Amino acid sequence: MKYEAVIGLEIHSELKTTTKIFCGCKTAFGAEQNTQVCPVCLGLPGVLPTINKKVVEFAVKAGLATNCTINKYSKFDRKNYYYPDLPKNWQTSQYDLPIAEHGHVDIEVNGEKKTVRLTRIHMEEDAGKLVHSGNTIKDSAAGSFVDYNRTGVPLIEIVSEPDMHSAAEARAYMEKIKAILEYIDVSNCRMEEGNLRADINVSLRPVGSDKLGTRTEMKNINSFKALEDAINYEIERQQEVLEDGGKIIQETRTFDPERGVTLSMRSKENADDYRYMPEPDLPPIVMTDEEIESYRRELPELPDAACLRLQNELGLSAYDAGVLTASRQTAQYFDAVLKTGADAKLAANWIMSDLAKNLNAAEITIDQSPVDAKRLGEMILLISKGTISSKIGKKVFAEMWDGNTDSAEKIVADKGWVQITDTGAIEQIVKEVIAKNEKAVADYKNGNKKAIGALVGQVMKASQGKANPQTVNELLTKLL
Ligand code: ADP
Ligand code: ZN
Ligand code: MG
Repeated sequence: MKYEAVIGLEIHSELKTTTKIFCGCKTAFGAEQNTQVCPVCLGLPGVLPTINKKVVEFAVKAGLATNCTINKYSKFDRKNYYYPDLPKNWQTSQYDLPIAEHGHVDIEVNGEKKTVRLTRIHMEEDAGKLVHSGNTIKDSAAGSFVDYNRTGVPLIEIVSEPDMHSAAEARAYMEKIKAILEYIDVSNCRMEEGNLRADINVSLRPVGSDKLGTRTEMKNINSFKALEDAINYEIERQQEVLEDGGKIIQETRTFDPERGVTLSMRSKENADDYRYMPEPDLPPIVMTDEEIESYRRELPELPDAACLRLQNELGLSAYDAGVLTASRQTAQYFDAVLKTGADAKLAANWIMSDLAKNLNAAEITIDQSPVDAKRLGEMILLISKGTISSKIGKKVFAEMWDGNTDSAEKIVADKGWVQITDTGAIEQIVKEVIAKNEKAVADYKNGNKKAIGALVGQVMKASQGKANPQTVNELLTKLL
C-alpha cells in the first residue's frame, strides 16, 4: 500500500518584549540562572498576575500578518500539569477563546504554490528550563537542574491545520512563519536560543484516503535541519510499522539530532488530561475594531508583498525576489544597497553570489557582514559608471571583506585600479599582444572568430584587469 504523510505544526515563538507576560521580570537571554524571577513567575502563593499589553499587541499583529480573524473577546485558561519547570503546576494559556483564528499563509516548494491554513494563534507563558547533566533525558541524564528565568516569558503558539505532506513543505511553512514574525518585529526568532521552536505532528494514511491516521508528536524542534530529519525519520518509521501490519501508537517522541532518530517518550495526553479551566486571576481581553485597525496600520510590508514589489517594480525574477525577501535582514540589506543608487539587478547578483558565498563560508548572517550595504552599493555604482570592471569589482569586494574599511572609491584610487579607458594606452597593449600571439592571430584570420577571446584575455592580463573590456574588443577587431 502507498502512504501519504500528513503533517501539522505547533510553532512556539518567544515574543521580544523586555518584560515577562504577567510580571515585570526581565526576559533577556543568557542571564545567570534564577536571577530574573519574582514571586509571580515563581508561582508563590497569593500572588496575582497582570497582563503585559505589549504581548497582546504582538499577538494581534502576528494574527493580522497571517490572515487570521482577531477575536474581540478572548480569555486566558489554566492548563494543569505537574512538571518541575512549571512552578505553579499550571500554564496560563488560552483554550477555547484564543486571540486569533482561521488564518493562512502561502508557501512555495519546487515552484509549486500551496496554502497552509492556521487553526489558531494563542498567547501563553513559557515554562522554565531543565538542564540535564547527561546527553538526552531518555538515555543518560544522571540529574537535572531547573532555571526559572524563562518562566513567564511570553509566547505565542501558532497551530497549523494538518495541511503539509512532506518535510520540505513543513520547512517552507516554518520559514515563512519565521520571516513574517521577523518582518513584523515581534520575535527575535533565534532558533538556536530556543525562541522559535516547533512541535511536529506526523501521521500516515493510505493515498486517496481523507481520514487522518494516528499521529505521533515530536516536541521542541529548534532547527530547520532537525525539523526535516525528524519528519523524514518518522515517516519511514511509521511506514515500516504499518507495512509489518502494526499499529501506530499515539505518543510523544523525542528527536535525537545526533543520531537522527526519534525515541518514544510517553503516551500522548489529551485535552481533558489537562483539566483546562478559566483563569480567574486575569480579566478577559476585549478589543475594539479601532484597536485592531490601529495595529493593522502599524504592520510593515510583509514578505509576500515585498517579493511581488521586487518583481513588479524592479524587474527581478521570482526566484531572485524570493531569495532577497526570505528574511527581513536580507531584504533590508538589499534596500540599503539600492539607496546608494545601485542598479537592482546588479545588486541582486552581488548579494546572491559573492556576498552569499562569503557569508556561508564564514558562517555569519548578513547583518554581520564586514561589507556593509552602503559600501557594496558604492562599489556597484563604480562598475555601472565604468570606473572599474566587474573583475576589479571582485578585487575591491575581497579587499573590503578582508577588513579594509575604506570606501570603494578610495580603495580603487589607492590601488590604482581605475579602469583604463584611454584608447591610446589600450591600443599600445593591443598591438603588443597581437605581435606576441601569432598563432591566435592566424587562427582568427583563418576564420576562427573565437580565437579573439584568447587575445582579449591577454590584453586584460597585461593591463592587470584595468582595460575597459569593450574598448579592448573594439580595438582588437579593428587592428586584426
Ligand atoms: P495537541 O497536540 O496540543 O493535542 P491538536 O490536537 O489541536 O493539539 O493538534 C495539534 C497539531 O497536530 C495541529 O497542528 C494539527 O494540525 C496536528 N494534527 C492533528 N491531528 C493530526 C494527524 N492525524 N496527523 C498529523 N497532524 C495532526
Ligand atoms: Zn517575575
Ligand atoms: Mg501538540
